[in-house]
Amino acid sequence: MALVYSTDGGRMCPHCRQPLAACRCAEAARKAVRETVRGGGQVRVSRERGGRGGKTVTLVRGLALDADALAALGKRLRAACGAGGAAKDGVLEIQGDHVERVLALLAQEGHAARRSGG
Ligand SMILES: [Zn+2]
Repeated sequence: MALVYSTDGGRMCPHCRQPLAACRCAEAARKAVRETVRGGGQVRVSRERGGRGGKTVTLVRGLALDADALAALGKRLRAACGAGGAAKDGVLEIQGDHVERVLALLAQEGHAARRSGG
């Protein structure tokens, strides 16, 4: 019995390293966006106090972006606010009270953002 080397693998996805035919990355990204849109499709910016120290943070929710785009946007917002922060579970966090500035920056980038809460 001869060994047969398959060449069916074809191109591989750089993200999940599966053959493109088996890759679900694009599907997962579309699903994430659909779920965000179903959640109102509305970007909300709020100021909250978090943690034991009660430090004020500015949170941005509802951005219909994939993880890379969300991280990049978070980086721009933090740079513009001169503050630290993080991106977690689709929510951007910027340390300090920067609601007004973040709303203005999001508008500039084409996101229809609204203030929520206090
Ligand atoms: Zn993939």
